[in-house]
Amino acid sequence: MMVFKFGGASVNSVDRIKNIAKILKLYPSESLVIIISAMGKTTNALEKVAESFFEGNTEKAFQLFEEVKQQHLTTAQSLLPKNFFLCKDDLSSFFTEAEWLLHDKPVRKYDYYYDQIVSIGELLSTCIVSHYLNEIKITNTWLDVRDIIRTDNNFRDATVDWNFTASKTGNLEFGIGNTKTINDKPQTIYITQGFIGATDDNETTTLGREGSDYSAAIFANLLNAESLTIWKDVEGVMNADPKQFLDAQLISELSFEEVIEMAFYGAQVIHPKTIKPLQNKKIPLLVKCFLDASLQGTIIQDKATKQLPPIIVIKENQVLMHLHSQDFSFVGEKPMSFLYTLFEETKIKPNLIQTGAISVQICLDNMAEKLDELAAKASSIFDVQLQKQLTLITIRNYNKEIIEKLLKDKKVLLQQQTTNTFQALCF
Ligand code: ASP
Ligand code: MG
Repeated sequence: MMVFKFGGASVNSVDRIKNIAKILKLYPSESLVIIISAMGKTTNALEKVAESFFEGNTEKAFQLFEEVKQQHLTTAQSLLPKNFFLCKDDLSSFFTEAEWLLHDKPVRKYDYYYDQIVSIGELLSTCIVSHYLNEIKITNTWLDVRDIIRTDNNFRDATVDWNFTASKTGNLEFGIGNTKTINDKPQTIYITQGFIGATDDNETTTLGREGSDYSAAIFANLLNAESLTIWKDVEGVMNADPKQFLDAQLISELSFEEVIEMAFYGAQVIHPKTIKPLQNKKIPLLVKCFLDASLQGTIIQDKATKQLPPIIVIKENQVLMHLHSQDFSFVGEKPMSFLYTLFEETKIKPNLIQTGAISVQICLDNMAEKLDELAAKASSIFDVQLQKQLTLITIRNYNKEIIEKLLKDKKVLLQQQTTNTFQALCF
């Protein structure tokens, strides 16, 4: 069997959803587990719902949620001339799930509400796609991934319980054939959500933004899939974001190791957690273009790569935290150990750290609540200052020309390099 992952852009409109059917028809005798993200920018829209709710602006939360609802209903209606009402019933039960919560007043942490609300996006998109494919006779079974992927309760960045999850994926049956294929080989298609899971208390969790790739990798690993294909709106993995760099070029072959490095530095190509589950079982990862399935795309596998071009990763919205020891005492092993314990406690992963005699500089993603917590705790031994709205530029396989080109109009606040990776934090 193979695992497919379709991201938000591939289910963004009626035509795009129809296009998924065309792609599936190219694989008539494969059993498939299909992982799907929320439609288009739904996750962002739901984030706004969660924010309004948490700020106590119930009316706005409902109003924003209503927009999400209408958009999904309209899409479902266009796709389902026969079975719209069946689908609508299913969608309504997810709407109700969210609306129940929106009626309450927040008493728990933001991240909990975030996950309960934002996760609806994947439930809605998969529901629509599954109904649509069934209607056009691509028979499939819809799965609620919250019955399969078990996590801890670290909301917004939950950790997967692999043993429990394995016991659940082990129950999936293949070759039972909900569809008889051309070769008379029974084909099984499951459709389920990326990005989300649930705790043992049945509370919904999310695996981090763009986490659907990781969900797909979990399934591929546990089901010993032949391959995982991630369908995107680009030709394959590029050496830079083509939206930012017009001369970005396709890389047709990459090693797991290179991709894990790229993802770590923030390349939007593939979610950083995706590679390990695949690498552990040597399952190749294909990145293909859903706009033209005949293009070769990129293959990522357990093989050293040939000469690679410079690979550029730009991370916006970075914060530089300046920590100064309060009484001119050195930042020795004790304060450092304290600091790393704080990272663990606040679940913060620094993107860059530079230590000096009496100061430490840390580059972090701008996650307000976590930052405040870290700053508050660190202020017990440091003076803390924050500098926001910065950009972290990372170049793998760098050379002098590319560094000069990228830093031309920038002010650099912090710079580090190893033999193959160059990083500069700038504004
Ligand atoms: N829908 C989620 C997001 O936009 C997960 C994903 O797309 O992978 O972050
Ligand atoms: Mg996405």
